[in-house]
Amino acid sequence: MSSDQIQSTTSGDAPPIPLLSIRDLVVTFQTERGPACAVDHVSFDILPGEVLGIVGESGSGKSVTALSMLRLIPEPPGKIAAGKIIFDDQDLLQLPYDKMRHIRGNEIAMIFQEPMTALNPVFTIGMQVREAVLTHARVSKSEATERTVEMLDKVGIPSARRRLNDYPHQFSGGMRQRVMIAMALVCHPKILIADEPTTALDVTTQSQILDLMLELKQRETSASIVLITHDLGVVAETCQRAIVMYGGRIQETGTIEQLFSQPKHPYTQGLLASLPAIAGPRHERLYTIPGNVPSIMEMPSGCRFCTRCEHATDRCHASEPPLHDTGNGQLVRCHLLDPTSPE
Ligand code: SF4
Repeated sequence: MSSDQIQSTTSGDAPPIPLLSIRDLVVTFQTERGPACAVDHVSFDILPGEVLGIVGESGSGKSVTALSMLRLIPEPPGKIAAGKIIFDDQDLLQLPYDKMRHIRGNEIAMIFQEPMTALNPVFTIGMQVREAVLTHARVSKSEATERTVEMLDKVGIPSARRRLNDYPHQFSGGMRQRVMIAMALVCHPKILIADEPTTALDVTTQSQILDLMLELKQRETSASIVLITHDLGVVAETCQRAIVMYGGRIQETGTIEQLFSQPKHPYTQGLLASLPAIAGPRHERLYTIPGNVPSIMEMPSGCRFCTRCEHATDRCHASEPPLHDTGNGQLVRCHLLDPTSPE
């Protein structure tokens, strides 16, 4: 296992000071066959005000990385085995539980794919949003209720005051996700992590929710969004920069323009070729990357993608390529693109 060193800027300018830096994060899960590595020496920065995408298929390590930022990995079987997560000059992985709890929600908030699992079915929407307000702000109950109405209104819940006494099951999936966004944003977090926030929604609601997240971000200009998704189309619409993960490793990272106009890693190229909008209407059948993501217990040696890559050679099976800067800040982990890579 080797370390990634991800640069935080793609230009020659002085790099902005990151809001959060992950360094050499390693997350393992205990299995019947011993510990298996789900995230393997991952390093990257979140910059102020950016929308950063983390992309990959299910099992790529993207959600585990996101959960680690808030120390929400279920332990056991999970374990953050190594690394640092630096936020506000402190390592979140070393913070006492009560301080971490304060950061969660106040400074870094998260919304999940299925809001029904995050909302409590036995409490009304009003009670749950108001509780979030009261937990994070010193205000009276009546003021908390007013802030709740205001926030629900902002995220587009019609007749917000009238719906305070409704229960989660009385809301549609899209409305529940709006409530989750309201709860996440009620304390003006510096970072909003959204893990597949639109996957469970229909296409129209998906784009409404993405628009809403971006609109709210524009009001909080220095806040950053980390969008975890398997969908490169969503990344193209919303992000400035993206990280492509596979097999618990970063495989490629760059600006959206770089990744979409000049994808360099065969995995990124495969993901793009399977996008309908990119493949175009003339393609009767969309490209699919052959094979499946290997389980964390059966990661191939060498390049993690070698079992599915049509360019794989003996070298790819023998050694894992380092993450290599292709010259303009676009980092790629592939022997084909690294002249220093051993033959
Ligand atoms: Fe494919 Fe080899 Fe590059 Fe891995 S290192 S992506 S197997 S060409």
